[in-house]
Amino acid sequence: MVIVGAGVTGLVSAVRCALAGHQVTVLERGAVPDPGSTSFDQHRALRTVNPTDPEATRRLAETHHRWLELEHLLCGSAPRAGFYRRVGVLTGWPAAKAAAAVAVGADAGLPVEVVAPDAYPHLRFPEGGAVLREPHAGVLLADRVLWAAAGWLRRHPAVRLRPWCPVSSVDADSGRVTLADDTVEEGDLVLVACGPWSSALVDTPTVTYRQTMVYLRAPDEVARWWDTAPSAGRIGTRGDAWMLPSGDGTLVKVSSSTACRQVSGVDDEDDEDEHVWSARILAAQPLTDMDRYTVVAVKRCHYAVDTHTAGAHLAQVGPAVWARAASGGDGFRTAPFVADHIVGALSRSQPPLTTTGRNPR
Ligand SMILES: Cc1cc2nc3c(=O)[nH]c(=O)nc-3n(C[C@H](O)[C@H](O)[C@H](O)COP(=O)(O)OP(=O)(O)OC[C@H]3O[C@@H](n4cnc5c(N)ncnc54)[C@H](O)[C@@H]3O)c2cc1C
Repeated sequence: MVIVGAGVTGLVSAVRCALAGHQVTVLERGAVPDPGSTSFDQHRALRTVNPTDPEATRRLAETHHRWLELEHLLCGSAPRAGFYRRVGVLTGWPAAKAAAAVAVGADAGLPVEVVAPDAYPHLRFPEGGAVLREPHAGVLLADRVLWAAAGWLRRHPAVRLRPWCPVSSVDADSGRVTLADDTVEEGDLVLVACGPWSSALVDTPTVTYRQTMVYLRAPDEVARWWDTAPSAGRIGTRGDAWMLPSGDGTLVKVSSSTACRQVSGVDDEDDEDEHVWSARILAAQPLTDMDRYTVVAVKRCHYAVDTHTAGAHLAQVGPAVWARAASGGDGFRTAPFVADHIVGALSRSQPPLTTTGRNPR
């Protein structure tokens, strides 16, 4: 099979397909992993309880287990070698709905507890709300996931990793993948996993969002508290901010829904300066004593959602071509489920389970 794009979707799918006995070629326009990909960041949150969606919560209950399995496969069991920090996730929630949210977790077999905001003195929660804690959830060290997967794939005899190979077109009907140098790759199945750049290759209508993130260094006197702090969402004075904690060498990262805006594409420069957006994030006050934190970096990042549903999906765009053009705002943690789907699709396709590289000229 051929995978276009070596972000979390492409790499985790490649691992899963290789484990299932398939031959896999991964084409990536940059390095593998590519620091410019959406997936390449210090961390991504992994939480599974959605108090407003019991069905999705039940479906995603397996997520923790799947990432622990992947961690064991890719990193072994040496202490501190892994990438899943199970530090828990907090969510600010209206007090009147807290009991219902706990029930949603219990129904899916996921513990959720109501905790006192005072127990987390460096986080600011909206006045008068409840705080829910999902203790089994946590943070995926995203760039480490990518490095570990790339290393594993490089050593696997059935996998060809091809960095610096931009793809210029994918024919949805025939499954022909044409590279910028006019060479062609073909396989029994093609997965287009180019994140917010996918719409250049496949015709699946998506909307692109840009989000600014601010990376902070905590003052020395509270640095140790941050080492084991949980991730948190719906924080700040209005409950529209989120935070990922430092720990394992990362910085504290904050953002807010006020810094998430629709753009015409990744290259859209008709936008305000990143410093304006970062000022809005800091004004949302996700942390107490914001002034004591040092801004180390400001970065923007993009994700795409389906135009009609505003959600994420894996779409079949041709007889043997699949695309995760709409990977969504939770596309990192759900990547193992995409990989399952692709293995399922491959096992239904009939021989041969191989890929070929050739030049049509
Ligand atoms: C600010 C922000 C916060 C987020 N937070 C979370 C979170 O907490 N939890 C969570 O689960 N998800 C989160 N997400 C979403 C998640 O990061 C993405 O859904 C996910 O990383 C997408 O991965 P991907 O592999 O599909 O795409 P990408 O990581 O973008 O990878 C696509 C790859 O394709 C390559 N490529 C592009 N075009 C071509 C081409 N023509 N030829 C060859 N290669 C090509 C790119 O170089 C890149 O390496 C967040 C997203 C953003 C923007």
